[in-house]
Amino acid sequence: MAAPDKKDYYEVLGVSREATANDIKRAYRKLTRKYHPDANPGNADAERKFKEINEANDVLSDPQKRAQYDQFGFVGDAPPGGGYGDPFAGGGFNFGGDLFGDIFENFFGGAGARGGNSNGPRRGSDLEMTMRVTMETAYRGASREVEVPREENCPHCDGSGAEPGSKITTCSACGGSGKVERAANTPFGRMVQVVPCTACGGRGKKIEMPCKECGGAKRVKRSRKIDVKIPSGVDTGTRLRISGEGEAGRNGGPAGDLFIHIEVTSDSRFQRDGADLHVRADIEVPQAALGTTVSISTFDGTEKLDVPPGTQPGSVLRIKNRGMPKLRGSGNGDLHVHVRVNIPKNLSARGKQLMAELAAEMKVDVAENKGIFDRIKDKFAG
Ligand SMILES: [Zn+2]
Ligand SMILES: [Zn+2]
Repeated sequence: MAAPDKKDYYEVLGVSREATANDIKRAYRKLTRKYHPDANPGNADAERKFKEINEANDVLSDPQKRAQYDQFGFVGDAPPGGGYGDPFAGGGFNFGGDLFGDIFENFFGGAGARGGNSNGPRRGSDLEMTMRVTMETAYRGASREVEVPREENCPHCDGSGAEPGSKITTCSACGGSGKVERAANTPFGRMVQVVPCTACGGRGKKIEMPCKECGGAKRVKRSRKIDVKIPSGVDTGTRLRISGEGEAGRNGGPAGDLFIHIEVTSDSRFQRDGADLHVRADIEVPQAALGTTVSISTFDGTEKLDVPPGTQPGSVLRIKNRGMPKLRGSGNGDLHVHVRVNIPKNLSARGKQLMAELAAEMKVDVAENKGIFDRIKDKFAG
């Protein structure tokens, strides 16, 4: 379980995994004498060894830390060489976008407590991941397969930690309770404290031959493909819960949940505002003036929309129930069509003439008018 750069604490102290507190104390004293910097001046190897011995003793002489180390192979908040942010520490998990189309996943790790040395059933950690979907997928809903690396009970030993066929015996030091009483004489009298049994790591049982698959850890890391139902109407910030698809529970406890955080990518056509969608429609000046019918693309094909005569630039027309499906409740939002009126830029000579005539009809001054009036004047003069 320990990372490759980390030596096994039992190996460092040269004791077996079943060593008693006294065995550990004796081994520690012997080794510190041998590798103490004072006894080995200038010896870098001895100095490193001395540090290792102290680190190992720190953990193995503390029943709680030792129990945690026995169970997980590390002590503290994170395993050496990798945090929870990387469920397969050092495994280099990388979900290529091409593998999952418009999905990309990013595990930011399992929440929930690790450590401790309880023998009772404990719920597995929850797992969280992000899934990116297009707006069209959010509109229609979809079913997606995601790959989830997680801890499961070791199938080889059925989560017992013992090699099948080998014996699991009751710990003789604690009689199987996993706890021992420790008495100490204090100025206030004799105090009795109940502490986890160091001989069995607080588990009450001893394994003769650890499972070859999990090394006695009872758990293995597996990558599972899990079907995720994306309901229509999801939005950025929507969290889906897939019950029981997190990490396996311990000692018969239930599995954690898998939480999927949805991220909806932006769409080139639609702006989204909750369940409402906004889209732009470009029309020409005569269409705005005289009215027209335009085709508006929606996620369900095209819709005909009547643009009334005299529609102003920036007008918003509404197509009811053609927005996003509502995630909670029924029906859809509306589709808002923002009208933009294009002012012609590259008119033909005839187009310019017609515009100028329109301007004359409307009695408005335009740059082109001058030419026309000049020509009319010339005609009368001639
Ligand atoms: Zn196993
Ligand atoms: Zn015990």
